Amino acid sequence: MIENLHRTATYHPQISEVVIHDFYLTELELQCIRGHPRFKVSSSEGALGLPVWMNDQFRPFLLWHGSAGFQQIDNCEFLSGGEELDYPRIERHIFQIHITSHSILPRVASTILFMGTCSMKNIVDLPKFDLHVHLDGSMRLDTVLELTEALPPRVRSALPSDLESALIPPKRCTLEEYLQAFSITVAVLQTQEALARAAYELCADAAAENVIYMEIRFAPLLHLREGLKPCQVVEAVLSGMRRAEEEFPIRTGLILCGMKQASETEAITTAELAAEYAHAGVVGFDLAGPERGFPPSIHSEAVKIAKQAGVHVTIHAGEGCCPEHIREAIELGAERIGHGVYLYQDPATERLVAERGIPLEACPTSNLQISGVMNSYSEHPLKRYIDLGIPVTINTDNRLMSQITVTHELAAVIDAFLLSEEEVKTLLLNSAVAAFAPPAVKEKLRAAVHAVF
Ligand SMILES: [Zn+2]
Repeated sequence: MIENLHRTATYHPQISEVVIHDFYLTELELQCIRGHPRFKVSSSEGALGLPVWMNDQFRPFLLWHGSAGFQQIDNCEFLSGGEELDYPRIERHIFQIHITSHSILPRVASTILFMGTCSMKNIVDLPKFDLHVHLDGSMRLDTVLELTEALPPRVRSALPSDLESALIPPKRCTLEEYLQAFSITVAVLQTQEALARAAYELCADAAAENVIYMEIRFAPLLHLREGLKPCQVVEAVLSGMRRAEEEFPIRTGLILCGMKQASETEAITTAELAAEYAHAGVVGFDLAGPERGFPPSIHSEAVKIAKQAGVHVTIHAGEGCCPEHIREAIELGAERIGHGVYLYQDPATERLVAERGIPLEACPTSNLQISGVMNSYSEHPLKRYIDLGIPVTINTDNRLMSQITVTHELAAVIDAFLLSEEEVKTLLLNSAVAAFAPPAVKEKLRAAVHAVF
Protein backbone atom coordinates (compact mmCIF):
# COMPACT_ATOMS: atom_id res chain seq x y z
CA MET A 1 0.00 0.00 0.00
CA ILE A 2 2.76 2.39 0.85
CA GLU A 3 5.10 2.84 -2.04
CA ASN A 4 8.65 3.53 -1.25
CA LEU A 5 9.94 6.61 -2.91
CA HIS A 6 10.89 5.33 -6.31
CA ARG A 7 12.12 8.28 -8.22
CA THR A 8 15.03 8.31 -10.47
CA ALA A 9 16.34 11.01 -12.64
CA THR A 10 19.17 11.96 -14.85
CA TYR A 11 20.34 15.47 -15.41
CA HIS A 12 22.12 16.36 -18.60
CA PRO A 13 23.45 19.88 -18.21
CA GLN A 14 25.07 19.84 -21.61
CA ILE A 15 21.80 19.35 -23.42
CA SER A 16 19.74 21.43 -21.05
CA GLU A 17 17.10 18.93 -20.43
CA VAL A 18 16.01 16.66 -17.71
CA VAL A 19 14.26 13.37 -17.88
CA ILE A 20 12.62 11.98 -14.83
CA HIS A 21 11.65 8.41 -15.18
CA ASP A 22 10.13 5.70 -13.05
CA PHE A 23 8.10 8.25 -11.27
CA TYR A 24 5.87 6.52 -8.79
CA LEU A 25 3.44 8.13 -6.45
CA THR A 26 3.67 7.64 -2.77
CA GLU A 27 0.61 6.81 -0.78
CA LEU A 28 0.68 10.23 0.84
CA GLU A 29 0.65 11.89 -2.53
CA LEU A 30 -2.19 9.68 -3.62
CA GLN A 31 -4.16 10.75 -0.61
CA CYS A 32 -3.68 14.35 -1.63
CA ILE A 33 -4.94 13.62 -5.11
CA ARG A 34 -7.86 11.68 -3.78
CA GLY A 35 -8.80 14.50 -1.47
CA HIS A 36 -8.81 17.07 -4.25
CA PRO A 37 -9.06 15.31 -7.56
CA ARG A 38 -9.57 18.50 -9.51
CA PHE A 39 -6.51 20.41 -8.58
CA LYS A 40 -4.22 19.40 -5.85
CA VAL A 41 -0.57 19.15 -5.22
CA SER A 42 1.14 17.24 -2.57
CA SER A 43 3.48 19.04 -0.29
CA SER A 44 6.92 18.08 0.70
CA GLU A 45 10.14 19.62 1.75
CA GLY A 46 12.30 20.18 -1.25
CA ALA A 47 10.72 19.55 -4.57
CA LEU A 48 8.09 17.31 -5.87
CA GLY A 49 6.80 16.25 -9.21
CA LEU A 50 3.20 15.30 -9.44
CA PRO A 51 0.64 14.70 -12.13
CA VAL A 52 -2.28 16.97 -11.41
CA TRP A 53 -5.82 16.38 -12.57
CA MET A 54 -6.84 19.51 -14.40
CA ASN A 55 -9.10 20.25 -17.35
CA ASP A 56 -10.14 16.63 -17.49
CA GLN A 57 -6.67 15.30 -17.89
CA PHE A 58 -3.54 14.74 -15.89
CA ARG A 59 -0.99 17.45 -16.35
CA PRO A 60 2.62 17.08 -15.28
CA PHE A 61 3.61 19.54 -12.64
CA LEU A 62 6.94 19.90 -11.03
CA LEU A 63 6.87 21.93 -7.93
CA TRP A 64 9.71 23.53 -6.25
CA HIS A 65 9.50 24.47 -2.63
CA GLY A 66 11.52 27.56 -2.01
CA SER A 67 11.31 30.47 0.36
CA ALA A 68 8.23 31.71 -1.49
CA GLY A 69 6.44 28.43 -0.97
CA PHE A 70 5.42 26.16 -3.78
CA GLN A 71 6.04 27.33 -7.27
CA GLN A 72 4.99 25.58 -10.37
CA ILE A 73 7.63 24.78 -12.87
CA ASP A 74 5.99 24.80 -16.24
CA ASN A 75 7.04 23.77 -19.70
CA CYS A 76 7.26 20.18 -18.85
CA GLU A 77 5.41 17.42 -20.59
CA PHE A 78 4.79 13.78 -20.18
CA LEU A 79 6.94 11.58 -22.26
CA SER A 80 4.66 8.73 -21.50
CA GLY A 81 1.75 8.11 -19.24
CA GLY A 82 -0.43 10.84 -17.90
CA GLU A 83 -2.77 11.79 -20.69
CA GLU A 84 -4.44 8.48 -21.12
CA LEU A 85 -4.78 7.81 -17.43
CA ASP A 86 -8.02 7.81 -15.67
CA TYR A 87 -8.09 8.58 -12.02
CA PRO A 88 -8.63 5.14 -10.46
CA ARG A 89 -5.78 3.64 -12.40
CA ILE A 90 -3.15 6.13 -11.38
CA GLU A 91 -1.87 4.21 -8.42
CA ARG A 92 0.66 2.02 -10.13
CA HIS A 93 1.45 3.99 -13.19
CA ILE A 94 4.96 5.03 -13.98
CA PHE A 95 5.41 8.47 -15.41
CA GLN A 96 8.12 9.97 -17.43
CA ILE A 97 8.45 13.71 -17.43
CA HIS A 98 10.49 15.70 -19.86
CA ILE A 99 11.52 19.27 -19.09
CA THR A 100 12.98 21.51 -21.73
CA SER A 101 12.60 25.05 -20.50
CA HIS A 102 16.06 26.58 -20.21
CA SER A 103 15.00 29.30 -17.84
CA ILE A 104 13.93 26.89 -15.18
CA LEU A 105 16.88 24.54 -15.31
CA PRO A 106 18.75 25.90 -12.30
CA ARG A 107 15.66 25.29 -10.29
CA VAL A 108 15.07 21.95 -11.86
CA ALA A 109 18.56 20.95 -10.95
CA SER A 110 17.57 21.40 -7.36
CA THR A 111 14.39 19.45 -8.01
CA ILE A 112 16.31 16.64 -9.54
CA LEU A 113 18.61 16.52 -6.59
CA PHE A 114 15.61 15.65 -4.54
CA MET A 115 14.63 12.91 -6.92
CA GLY A 116 17.97 11.64 -7.97
CA THR A 117 21.31 13.27 -8.29
CA CYS A 118 22.68 15.71 -10.77
CA SER A 119 25.85 13.74 -11.21
CA MET A 120 24.32 10.87 -13.13
CA LYS A 121 24.48 8.72 -10.07
CA ASN A 122 21.22 7.55 -8.86
CA ILE A 123 20.58 7.61 -5.14
CA VAL A 124 18.59 4.42 -5.33
CA ASP A 125 21.56 2.69 -6.92
CA LEU A 126 24.11 3.94 -4.42
CA PRO A 127 25.24 1.44 -1.79
CA LYS A 128 23.56 2.75 1.34
CA PHE A 129 23.48 2.27 5.09
CA ASP A 130 21.02 2.57 7.90
CA LEU A 131 22.66 2.58 11.30
CA HIS A 132 19.71 3.97 13.23
CA VAL A 133 16.41 2.30 12.49
CA HIS A 134 13.87 1.12 15.04
CA LEU A 135 12.19 -2.20 14.37
CA ASP A 136 8.91 -1.08 15.94
CA GLY A 137 9.04 2.17 13.99
CA SER A 138 9.74 0.64 10.63
CA MET A 139 7.13 -2.01 10.01
CA ARG A 140 5.10 -2.10 6.81
CA LEU A 141 1.74 -0.44 7.34
CA ASP A 142 -0.08 -3.39 5.79
CA THR A 143 1.66 -5.80 8.13
CA VAL A 144 0.70 -3.79 11.22
CA LEU A 145 -2.91 -3.57 10.08
CA GLU A 146 -2.99 -7.29 9.34
CA LEU A 147 -1.46 -8.20 12.69
CA THR A 148 -3.88 -6.00 14.64
CA GLU A 149 -6.72 -8.15 13.28
CA ALA A 150 -5.29 -11.13 15.12
CA LEU A 151 -4.86 -9.36 18.44
CA PRO A 152 -6.86 -10.52 21.46
CA PRO A 153 -9.98 -8.29 21.80
CA ARG A 154 -8.73 -6.82 25.09
CA VAL A 155 -5.59 -5.57 23.35
CA ARG A 156 -7.32 -4.54 20.14
CA SER A 157 -9.93 -2.46 21.96
CA ALA A 158 -7.24 -0.42 23.72
CA LEU A 159 -5.77 0.78 20.43
CA PRO A 160 -6.83 3.97 18.65
CA SER A 161 -9.82 3.43 16.37
CA ASP A 162 -8.23 5.03 13.33
CA LEU A 163 -5.08 2.94 13.22
CA GLU A 164 -3.75 4.29 9.98
CA SER A 165 -3.71 7.92 11.02
CA ALA A 166 -2.33 7.03 14.43
CA LEU A 167 0.49 5.08 12.82
CA ILE A 168 1.40 7.92 10.51
CA PRO A 169 1.46 11.08 12.63
CA PRO A 170 1.56 14.55 11.03
CA LYS A 171 4.79 15.86 9.56
CA ARG A 172 5.19 18.06 12.61
CA CYS A 173 3.88 16.43 15.69
CA THR A 174 4.21 16.19 19.40
CA LEU A 175 6.21 13.47 21.02
CA GLU A 176 2.93 12.09 22.40
CA GLU A 177 1.42 11.73 18.94
CA TYR A 178 4.61 10.12 17.77
CA LEU A 179 4.77 7.68 20.67
CA GLN A 180 1.14 6.67 20.26
CA ALA A 181 2.11 5.07 16.97
CA PHE A 182 4.59 2.85 18.79
CA SER A 183 1.93 1.68 21.20
CA ILE A 184 0.28 0.03 18.19
CA THR A 185 3.36 -1.57 16.67
CA VAL A 186 4.61 -2.80 20.03
CA ALA A 187 1.17 -4.32 20.69
CA VAL A 188 1.39 -6.45 17.54
CA LEU A 189 5.02 -7.44 18.10
CA GLN A 190 4.38 -9.86 20.93
CA THR A 191 4.89 -13.17 19.16
CA GLN A 192 8.01 -14.70 17.67
CA GLU A 193 6.31 -14.92 14.27
CA ALA A 194 5.47 -11.21 14.24
CA LEU A 195 8.95 -10.20 15.42
CA ALA A 196 10.69 -12.37 12.85
CA ARG A 197 8.39 -11.12 10.11
CA ALA A 198 8.93 -7.45 11.00
CA ALA A 199 12.70 -7.91 10.98
CA TYR A 200 12.63 -9.82 7.71
CA GLU A 201 10.40 -7.30 5.96
CA LEU A 202 12.48 -4.37 7.15
CA CYS A 203 15.62 -5.97 5.75
CA ALA A 204 13.83 -6.81 2.51
CA ASP A 205 12.61 -3.22 2.11
CA ALA A 206 16.06 -1.85 2.84
CA ALA A 207 17.72 -4.26 0.43
CA ALA A 208 15.22 -3.20 -2.25
CA GLU A 209 16.64 0.32 -2.13
CA ASN A 210 20.20 -0.98 -2.07
CA VAL A 211 20.93 -0.61 1.61
CA ILE A 212 23.91 -2.92 1.93
CA TYR A 213 24.31 -2.71 5.69
CA MET A 214 21.72 -2.03 8.37
CA GLU A 215 21.72 -2.05 12.15
CA ILE A 216 18.22 -2.62 13.47
CA ARG A 217 17.48 -1.63 17.03
CA PHE A 218 14.67 -2.35 19.45
CA ALA A 219 13.97 -2.79 23.14
CA PRO A 220 13.44 -6.52 23.78
CA LEU A 221 11.80 -6.06 27.16
CA LEU A 222 8.82 -4.32 25.52
CA HIS A 223 7.86 -7.58 23.88
CA LEU A 224 7.18 -9.82 26.86
CA ARG A 225 3.47 -9.07 27.32
CA GLU A 226 2.18 -12.32 25.88
CA GLY A 227 4.63 -14.54 27.69
CA LEU A 228 7.76 -14.51 25.54
CA LYS A 229 11.08 -14.67 27.33
CA PRO A 230 13.70 -12.02 26.48
CA CYS A 231 15.93 -14.57 24.75
CA GLN A 232 13.00 -15.74 22.59
CA VAL A 233 12.34 -12.15 21.56
CA VAL A 234 15.94 -11.57 20.53
CA GLU A 235 16.18 -14.92 18.73
CA ALA A 236 13.00 -14.24 16.77
CA VAL A 237 14.31 -10.92 15.48
CA LEU A 238 17.71 -12.42 14.67
CA SER A 239 16.05 -15.26 12.77
CA GLY A 240 14.13 -12.78 10.59
CA MET A 241 17.33 -10.86 9.90
CA ARG A 242 19.27 -14.02 9.06
CA ARG A 243 16.58 -15.20 6.67
CA ALA A 244 16.71 -11.86 4.88
CA GLU A 245 20.50 -11.97 4.72
CA GLU A 246 20.27 -15.32 2.97
CA GLU A 247 17.83 -13.97 0.41
CA PHE A 248 19.05 -10.43 -0.19
CA PRO A 249 22.42 -8.73 -0.60
CA ILE A 250 22.34 -7.05 2.80
CA ARG A 251 24.40 -7.43 5.97
CA THR A 252 22.76 -6.66 9.28
CA GLY A 253 23.45 -6.26 12.96
CA LEU A 254 21.14 -5.95 15.93
CA ILE A 255 21.28 -3.27 18.63
CA LEU A 256 19.38 -3.82 21.86
CA CYS A 257 17.90 -0.74 23.51
CA GLY A 258 17.52 -0.18 27.20
CA MET A 259 14.78 2.34 27.89
CA LYS A 260 15.93 5.40 29.78
CA GLN A 261 12.68 5.77 31.69
CA ALA A 262 12.74 2.14 32.83
CA SER A 263 14.48 0.91 35.95
CA GLU A 264 18.23 0.45 36.17
CA THR A 265 17.59 -3.26 36.55
CA GLU A 266 15.79 -3.44 33.22
CA ALA A 267 18.59 -1.65 31.39
CA ILE A 268 21.07 -4.01 33.03
CA THR A 269 19.00 -7.03 31.95
CA THR A 270 19.02 -5.68 28.39
CA ALA A 271 22.78 -5.12 28.50
CA GLU A 272 23.29 -8.65 29.77
CA LEU A 273 21.12 -9.92 26.96
CA ALA A 274 23.25 -8.01 24.48
CA ALA A 275 26.35 -9.56 26.03
CA GLU A 276 24.82 -13.03 25.78
CA TYR A 277 24.12 -12.61 22.06
CA ALA A 278 27.26 -10.67 21.28
CA HIS A 279 28.54 -13.40 19.04
CA ALA A 280 25.19 -14.30 17.57
CA GLY A 281 24.17 -11.14 15.76
CA VAL A 282 23.85 -8.50 18.47
CA VAL A 283 26.41 -5.80 17.77
CA GLY A 284 25.35 -2.96 20.00
CA PHE A 285 23.63 -1.60 23.07
CA ASP A 286 21.67 1.65 23.11
CA LEU A 287 19.75 3.80 25.54
CA ALA A 288 16.52 5.12 24.03
CA GLY A 289 13.31 6.77 25.23
CA PRO A 290 12.43 10.16 26.67
CA GLU A 291 15.33 12.49 27.40
CA ARG A 292 14.10 15.16 29.76
CA GLY A 293 14.63 13.97 33.31
CA PHE A 294 16.39 10.81 32.17
CA PRO A 295 20.10 11.48 31.70
CA PRO A 296 22.00 8.51 30.28
CA SER A 297 24.17 8.35 33.39
CA ILE A 298 21.26 6.74 35.26
CA HIS A 299 22.17 3.61 33.34
CA SER A 300 25.94 3.73 33.64
CA GLU A 301 26.05 0.22 35.07
CA ALA A 302 24.20 -1.22 32.06
CA VAL A 303 26.54 0.56 29.67
CA LYS A 304 29.54 -0.79 31.57
CA ILE A 305 28.23 -4.37 31.31
CA ALA A 306 27.75 -4.05 27.57
CA LYS A 307 31.20 -2.57 27.03
CA GLN A 308 32.91 -5.19 29.16
CA ALA A 309 31.33 -7.86 26.99
CA GLY A 310 32.73 -6.23 23.88
CA VAL A 311 29.33 -4.92 22.74
CA HIS A 312 29.47 -1.56 20.97
CA VAL A 313 27.53 1.31 22.52
CA THR A 314 25.50 4.09 20.97
CA ILE A 315 23.21 6.35 22.97
CA HIS A 316 20.27 8.54 21.97
CA ALA A 317 21.27 12.01 23.15
CA GLY A 318 20.39 15.58 22.28
CA GLU A 319 17.53 14.52 20.03
CA GLY A 320 14.74 16.75 21.32
CA CYS A 321 16.48 18.63 24.10
CA CYS A 322 19.30 18.30 26.59
CA PRO A 323 22.59 18.94 24.76
CA GLU A 324 24.34 18.10 28.03
CA HIS A 325 23.32 14.47 27.62
CA ILE A 326 25.63 14.20 24.62
CA ARG A 327 28.65 14.87 26.82
CA GLU A 328 27.34 12.38 29.37
CA ALA A 329 26.86 9.74 26.71
CA ILE A 330 30.44 10.21 25.52
CA GLU A 331 31.76 10.03 29.05
CA LEU A 332 29.87 6.77 29.54
CA GLY A 333 31.69 5.42 26.53
CA ALA A 334 29.21 5.82 23.68
CA GLU A 335 31.02 5.28 20.38
CA ARG A 336 28.26 6.95 18.40
CA ILE A 337 25.55 9.45 19.28
CA GLY A 338 21.94 8.85 18.32
CA HIS A 339 20.77 12.08 16.65
CA GLY A 340 22.80 14.70 18.54
CA VAL A 341 20.66 17.43 16.96
CA TYR A 342 21.26 19.76 19.91
CA LEU A 343 25.03 19.35 19.88
CA TYR A 344 25.58 22.89 18.56
CA GLN A 345 24.14 24.25 21.80
CA ASP A 346 27.12 22.88 23.71
CA PRO A 347 30.21 24.24 21.92
CA ALA A 348 32.74 22.47 24.14
CA THR A 349 31.17 19.09 23.47
CA GLU A 350 30.82 19.94 19.80
CA ARG A 351 34.59 20.51 19.69
CA LEU A 352 35.16 17.24 21.50
CA VAL A 353 32.94 15.33 19.07
CA ALA A 354 34.82 16.86 16.14
CA GLU A 355 38.24 16.16 17.67
CA ARG A 356 37.47 12.57 18.46
CA GLY A 357 35.51 12.02 15.26
CA ILE A 358 32.51 10.61 17.08
CA PRO A 359 29.86 9.68 14.51
CA LEU A 360 26.42 11.22 14.73
CA GLU A 361 23.40 9.20 13.65
CA ALA A 362 21.33 11.91 11.98
CA CYS A 363 17.76 11.07 11.00
CA PRO A 364 16.68 14.16 9.05
CA THR A 365 12.92 13.64 8.66
CA SER A 366 12.43 12.29 12.14
CA ASN A 367 14.46 15.20 13.53
CA LEU A 368 12.38 17.66 11.55
CA GLN A 369 9.22 15.98 12.78
CA ILE A 370 9.91 16.07 16.50
CA SER A 371 13.13 17.87 17.45
CA GLY A 372 11.44 21.26 17.65
CA VAL A 373 14.41 23.27 16.41
CA MET A 374 13.87 23.36 12.68
CA ASN A 375 11.22 24.10 10.10
CA SER A 376 12.87 22.61 7.07
CA TYR A 377 15.61 20.20 6.17
CA SER A 378 17.88 23.10 5.35
CA GLU A 379 17.75 24.22 8.99
CA HIS A 380 19.07 20.87 10.19
CA PRO A 381 22.38 21.44 11.96
CA LEU A 382 23.85 18.37 10.29
CA LYS A 383 25.42 20.56 7.61
CA ARG A 384 27.18 22.52 10.32
CA TYR A 385 28.45 19.24 11.74
CA ILE A 386 29.59 18.05 8.31
CA ASP A 387 31.48 21.32 7.85
CA LEU A 388 33.14 20.86 11.24
CA GLY A 389 34.41 17.51 10.06
CA ILE A 390 32.18 15.47 12.35
CA PRO A 391 31.37 12.09 10.78
CA VAL A 392 27.65 12.48 10.14
CA THR A 393 25.68 9.44 9.04
CA ILE A 394 22.23 9.59 7.46
CA ASN A 395 19.59 7.20 8.77
CA THR A 396 15.84 6.71 8.88
CA ASP A 397 14.91 6.21 12.56
CA ASN A 398 11.28 5.25 11.85
CA ARG A 399 10.35 4.42 8.31
CA LEU A 400 6.69 3.88 9.07
CA MET A 401 5.93 6.93 11.19
CA SER A 402 7.96 9.24 8.97
CA GLN A 403 7.01 7.53 5.69
CA ILE A 404 10.55 7.50 4.41
CA THR A 405 13.44 5.42 3.14
CA VAL A 406 17.21 5.95 3.26
CA THR A 407 16.98 7.06 -0.36
CA HIS A 408 14.51 9.72 0.66
CA GLU A 409 16.64 10.90 3.54
CA LEU A 410 19.76 11.16 1.44
CA ALA A 411 17.88 12.94 -1.33
CA ALA A 412 16.36 15.39 1.13
CA VAL A 413 19.76 16.23 2.58
CA ILE A 414 21.43 16.50 -0.82
CA ASP A 415 18.69 18.84 -1.97
CA ALA A 416 18.60 20.94 1.18
CA PHE A 417 22.34 21.57 1.22
CA LEU A 418 23.17 21.04 -2.45
CA LEU A 419 25.79 18.55 -1.38
CA SER A 420 28.57 17.74 -3.79
CA GLU A 421 29.27 14.25 -5.00
CA GLU A 422 32.31 14.19 -2.72
CA GLU A 423 30.16 15.10 0.27
CA VAL A 424 27.66 12.37 -0.55
CA LYS A 425 30.50 9.90 -0.79
CA THR A 426 31.78 11.06 2.60
CA LEU A 427 28.36 10.56 4.18
CA LEU A 428 28.27 6.98 2.89
CA LEU A 429 31.84 6.28 3.96
CA ASN A 430 31.07 7.69 7.41
CA SER A 431 28.43 5.00 7.82
CA ALA A 432 30.78 2.28 6.61
CA VAL A 433 33.40 3.39 9.12
CA ALA A 434 30.94 3.88 11.99
CA ALA A 435 29.27 0.51 11.53
CA PHE A 436 29.42 -1.85 14.50
CA ALA A 437 30.64 -4.60 12.21
CA PRO A 438 33.87 -6.63 12.22
CA PRO A 439 36.80 -4.91 10.48
CA ALA A 440 36.68 -7.26 7.49
CA VAL A 441 33.02 -6.45 6.87
CA LYS A 442 33.65 -2.72 7.26
CA GLU A 443 36.41 -2.94 4.72
CA LYS A 444 33.99 -4.50 2.23
CA LEU A 445 31.42 -1.80 2.95
CA ARG A 446 34.01 0.90 2.33
CA ALA A 447 35.08 -0.79 -0.86
CA ALA A 448 31.47 -0.91 -2.05
CA VAL A 449 31.23 2.87 -1.66
CA HIS A 450 34.57 3.53 -3.36
CA ALA A 451 33.50 1.30 -6.23
CA VAL A 452 30.70 3.63 -7.33
CA PHE A 453 32.47 6.98 -7.01
ZN1 LIG B 1 15.99 6.55 17.50
